[in-house]
Amino acid sequence: MELKKTVRDVNLSGQKILVRVDFNVPFSPGTLEIANTKRISASIPTLQYLLDNDAAIVICSHLGRPKGREVAGLSLRPIWDKLNQMLGLESAFCPSLDFSEISAASQKVNPGEVLLLENLRFHPGEETNDLKFAQNLANLADIYVNDAFGAAHRHHASVQGVTNYIPSVAGLLLEKEILSLQSVLTMPKRPFTAVLGGAKVSDKINVVRNLMTVADNILIGGGMAATFLAAESVFVGDSQVEETFIDSANQLMKESRALDCEIVLPNDAVVSKCFGPDSSNRICDVSDIKDGEMLLDIGPSTSLLFKDVLSATASALWNGPMGVYEWPQYSKGTRAVAESLSRENITSVIGGGSTVDAVSSLGLEARMEHVSTGGGASLEFLEGRDLPGITSLIDI
Ligand code: ADP
Ligand code: MG
Repeated sequence: MELKKTVRDVNLSGQKILVRVDFNVPFSPGTLEIANTKRISASIPTLQYLLDNDAAIVICSHLGRPKGREVAGLSLRPIWDKLNQMLGLESAFCPSLDFSEISAASQKVNPGEVLLLENLRFHPGEETNDLKFAQNLANLADIYVNDAFGAAHRHHASVQGVTNYIPSVAGLLLEKEILSLQSVLTMPKRPFTAVLGGAKVSDKINVVRNLMTVADNILIGGGMAATFLAAESVFVGDSQVEETFIDSANQLMKESRALDCEIVLPNDAVVSKCFGPDSSNRICDVSDIKDGEMLLDIGPSTSLLFKDVLSATASALWNGPMGVYEWPQYSKGTRAVAESLSRENITSVIGGGSTVDAVSSLGLEARMEHVSTGGGASLEFLEGRDLPGITSLIDI
């Protein structure tokens, strides 16, 4: 991916800037209480930079999936309060996406001031990338800044369409995401190990395929390990094997040898006959999984094996938990990997919604080189795909 211009490369003083951020934060169930404010705080450096450079700011974001209609529980109002606290100012809020209203509201924003627009997905034109809607957004400002890495894989009006009409550059968060993920894909410190897990091999197979061309090792855990084990003719009982991916898994194992990348599968597992938080379970060698049992975490011997590989690794990328980490008895493998990746002399980049959640609930976020704010976007990036929210920005 080519290098893109950022907020540092344009004259901001006195200009009106439309900033697309990713305020798609989780709420505590049934409340308007923000459960995790990381995506808001991650946007502050760019917003502060724009304010320091005397720009007038119009912020826009989506939240959840209202599907082109106004949904009361998905208003950005609760986020507006948090934003004001974090920026230490009183910003304005425009509750409508009607063009005449946002246009009037944005004309009132002076340099050093901020306006937040209501949830973009209340408008049907956002997700369909309606060019009229995109043009209306562009008409609000002189320059467009994309700082929403979490939405960069979307062909939406505020991500891609708007860039057809005004000069468009990256924000500081987007820049950091690109540089961090790009550096592991193109010039990782070696040895470089990728750790991949999560529920489904179908979600991650293209990530394995792409990383295989750069990584020295790929450690595979999580539910997806079952399909890889099955591809090696290991009996995995009732584990969630994706039959249609066994051949691709097999093919990848072969190709990886030719590419000098070692794919390492679990040698033991925590297995149970029941998928539940309090199910009885046992630890066994993967060759000893019985009928009716399913693999719910990597076992202690695999944790040690992965730890050994990681202790000899200079840089690492992790996507996907090693087991059903939400349940304490199946969280040990995930914890072991998180701890290995948080040691002093390893450069660790973490991507994926659940993986980031696991790392932050262990309190290890600050010990990682980079923790991505984008789930789906980071996966597509790691697959080597072009993201419309990045390719549409001005090249350096
Ligand atoms: P990420 O969001 O980090 O990309 P995924 O969405 O791919 O990760 O996978 C996360 C989910 O995978 C978690 O909910 C976790 O419980 C589940 N998971 C991990 N290992 C297993 C397993 N062995 N069996 C079933 N589900 C698993
Ligand atoms: Mg996920």
